[in-house]
Amino acid sequence: MTMNNQGRPSAPGAGEAQAFSTISGDRGLDHEEKLIFELGRPGVSGVDLPEVQMSETRLAGHRRRGPIGLPGLSEPEVVRHYVRLSRMNYAIDAGLYPLGSCTMKHNPRLNEKMARLPGFGDLHPLAPQSTAQGALALISELMRWLTTLTGMPAVAMSPKAGAHGELCGLLTIKAAIEARGEKRPRILVPESAHGTNPATAAFAGFAVDEVKATADGRVDVAALKAKLGPDVGAIMLTNPNTCGLFERDIVEIADLVHKAGAYFYCDGANFNAIAGRVRPGDLGIDAMHINLHKTFSTPHGGGGPGAGPVVLSARLAAFAPLPLLVHDAKGFRLIEDRAEVPQGAQPFGRMCAFHGQMGMFVRALAYMLSHGRDGVRQASEDAVLSANYILASLKDTMSAPFEGPCMHEALFDDHFLDDTGVTTLDFAKAMIDEGYHPMTMYFPLVVHGAMLIEPTESESKESLDRFIHVLRTMAQDAKAGKRERFEGAPRLAPRRRLDEPAGARNPVLRWKPKDLPKAAE
Ligand SMILES: *Cc1c(COP(=O)(O)O)cnc(C)c1O
Repeated sequence: MTMNNQGRPSAPGAGEAQAFSTISGDRGLDHEEKLIFELGRPGVSGVDLPEVQMSETRLAGHRRRGPIGLPGLSEPEVVRHYVRLSRMNYAIDAGLYPLGSCTMKHNPRLNEKMARLPGFGDLHPLAPQSTAQGALALISELMRWLTTLTGMPAVAMSPKAGAHGELCGLLTIKAAIEARGEKRPRILVPESAHGTNPATAAFAGFAVDEVKATADGRVDVAALKAKLGPDVGAIMLTNPNTCGLFERDIVEIADLVHKAGAYFYCDGANFNAIAGRVRPGDLGIDAMHINLHKTFSTPHGGGGPGAGPVVLSARLAAFAPLPLLVHDAKGFRLIEDRAEVPQGAQPFGRMCAFHGQMGMFVRALAYMLSHGRDGVRQASEDAVLSANYILASLKDTMSAPFEGPCMHEALFDDHFLDDTGVTTLDFAKAMIDEGYHPMTMYFPLVVHGAMLIEPTESESKESLDRFIHVLRTMAQDAKAGKRERFEGAPRLAPRRRLDEPAGARNPVLRWKPKDLPKAAE
């Protein structure tokens, strides 16, 4: 038995972990946990409520006729339940989270503290604006940072995630096209694009047309040229792209797109590789969403809150959605109504009920102010350095599909697993036994059996070295025919390998009570 990097015994011999079962169902400190409905007992409660002192006559007709099926647990039982569940999960606070394209970086606690200040945390979105001047000033300051870092004149703050930002950007572009009295129903999307790009274009009513990649993983400019025409509304390009590569021809691409009368949408989810180094506005970009929950370290995952502000070029700024934040002699004000917009503004509509994710705005601005512009640039440079360290350290043992250095994420393909009987999925799942969250797998689609690793700037060299050692050893084991490490992995996680296709085709989303007393109809 060997020790893994956390000093815990690592994978025992084949079958050993599976054959050994404990009396409790727990494995050491790895707890088994039932659903809260299975744990609860009738009549138990975590709170003491006084008897209701109301006459029967006033309650008549309203009295509950049977149990409503809430689980009965004491306070310590509830606390244990959720703490145990949290320990079955993996988090950036527990270890390196190499999920490519997702930018799982450390969430500084200072930001959390700022977001919880009562003046921000307790503010209601319908509070009179005169009582929320500080919050509006904060949004305004964040807008200034975003427009400065991107070199773009305007920003729409309300989109609540990257994909929502894409929709905002395309609806802005659509409004601009319509204002010109044109119809441009086609959107060009490179084949390495994140799945949200074609989905957004289709959702916004455009036809999606795919642009080929070159052998070096970038947009094929000749193929793009051939596709441009008077019916093209925009190109949606990611830079750095999802292969972790900088699109070197981006200025030429912008020129071509503009000459064809189309707009340049950039998926800015990977802005964390270039923030403080390159201003997208200087590259000819017309609209770009920024994932505050990636680049600016606000927490994300599991569908939790995000924020996807969209910066806009001068050609598109007038069409930005409501609300508009203005600052005049009377202070800060959100313009919610088309009738009140400044001259020239033609908002296409609005993206959501309020102004955006206030909690994320506070965290992102705290991150910016604590780093400063030079610090933001340093973070981008360190993220790129970390990824290149991984790429350089592993490309002889694993296999890299493209020559040369990468940006903020390192892409590998599955050629190093040829004839081993081990797949990308097996390899990724075996990482769980080593105490790591898997990397992004099978994306981007342009690479066979892709493994996309994004370490971010948060990791120390020691942490990267441990990770590299584990992956290199795993790759060597796969090549040496040690299939037992991979078959059926993970072995040491609270759950074994899940049947993902069956789960997707046959989701069981609801636990049905079997033995619960029936509530009266
Ligand atoms: C994360 C990501 C998105 C989508 O962002 P969400 O906030 O998850 O909606 C889009 N494009 C790329 C390249 C991404 O990495």
